[in-house]
Amino acid sequence: MDHCAQPGLLPIEEALVRICNQLTPVQETETLVLHAALDRVLAAPITAPINVPAGDNSAMDGYALRAQDCTATLSVIGQSLAGHPFNGAIGSTQAIRIMTGALIPAGADTVVMQENVQRNGEQITITQIPEMGEHIRRAGEDIALGHLVMAAGQRLSALDIGLLASLGIAQVTVRRSLRVAILTTGDELLPAGAMPATGKIYDSNRPLLSALLTRIPVDLIDLGIIPDDLPALRSAFTTAMHWADVVISTGGVSVGDADYTKEVLAELGEIDFWKIAMKPGKPFAFGRLGQGWFFGLPGNPVSTAVTYHQLVVPGLRHLAGEVISPQQRLDAIAGHALKKQPGRTDFQRGILTNTNGVNTVISAGLQNSGVLSAMAKANCYIYLPAEQGSVAEGERVSVIPFDQFIR
Ligand code: AMP
Ligand code: MG
Repeated sequence: MDHCAQPGLLPIEEALVRICNQLTPVQETETLVLHAALDRVLAAPITAPINVPAGDNSAMDGYALRAQDCTATLSVIGQSLAGHPFNGAIGSTQAIRIMTGALIPAGADTVVMQENVQRNGEQITITQIPEMGEHIRRAGEDIALGHLVMAAGQRLSALDIGLLASLGIAQVTVRRSLRVAILTTGDELLPAGAMPATGKIYDSNRPLLSALLTRIPVDLIDLGIIPDDLPALRSAFTTAMHWADVVISTGGVSVGDADYTKEVLAELGEIDFWKIAMKPGKPFAFGRLGQGWFFGLPGNPVSTAVTYHQLVVPGLRHLAGEVISPQQRLDAIAGHALKKQPGRTDFQRGILTNTNGVNTVISAGLQNSGVLSAMAKANCYIYLPAEQGSVAEGERVSVIPFDQFIR
């Protein structure tokens, strides 16, 4: 990749590697009841304590019998219902009525679905000869006893919670939650709900970040809006660093107005100020703050959202002990021309649709980093790599659908 066009800019991939290399995952664990473990990160692998299914059972409503008897008239000698197995064995020319999920009795090797059976009182004849073993779900065919079900470092999804429950597992050991502090900086900021005032704007970043952070299991403190003032910033960062694993701030990291933030962070921690070759989100700060870490995001709300999603989320997930895989990208056709300068990786906000199997993406609106309304309408990033220039209508581009961490 050629970043010569804008020397001194750090490629986003490299920024991510640097972040993850520095963050050592938290080691402490806690044991939780299953229903409280959604989105938490497994601290140890899980092996199956049982077979799933536990025993051979029927995949159909029908009759369990011996395949070799299928041409004979068979006597129905009992039934096996889900949760109420047949107590006994079937012998030559015998069958039992069986329902889906019910255990296969000893002696039976096949289930014939009821549609292929003619019943006369307690006698049946088979109208369509089955294959040996048909319609039997075998013990352990879903999960075999002792097999690895989930590796350490896996974040538990709702499906994983269901899977663990199917194994009879009622509690799990997970890594502890992260402690995260957020604050926004800027003399111009007012909290939503305050009276509008000349020269002031409403603080969108703190509500945005605290909402996004509900999708990651963290204990959150919100330190509020901090004015562009040295003692106030020092006091906020000092409070935050004594408690938090991660402090996230917005604003004040671009050249010029960053002075106080830079000064305080240089005094309290070891922070690198990066210019990342991404758009939006060029100015970015990352480093040590006390025993924890600091992410300084640019103040424009779209820049805050995109840098949070692309750099902070992977950082937090890694710190939480999760083994993370790269974001999924899809191919799409550009529905119209897209403007782009070579030099930085663009995360343009787009709207992806699929019509008759063809992905098409269009811009979600104004691409300025202050325009949150376009990002709120978007459902994906149009990912345009650093070296790429403008895109013509009909050209193929990569898109990254938004995931639960940004919506
Ligand atoms: P900064 O990064 O502090 O230079 O801010 C860049 C731009 O983002 C300025 O126009 C700020 O007014 C705006 N901005 C900074 N913080 C926020 C915030 N919390 N909510 C909305 N806009 C912000
Ligand atoms: Mg500012």
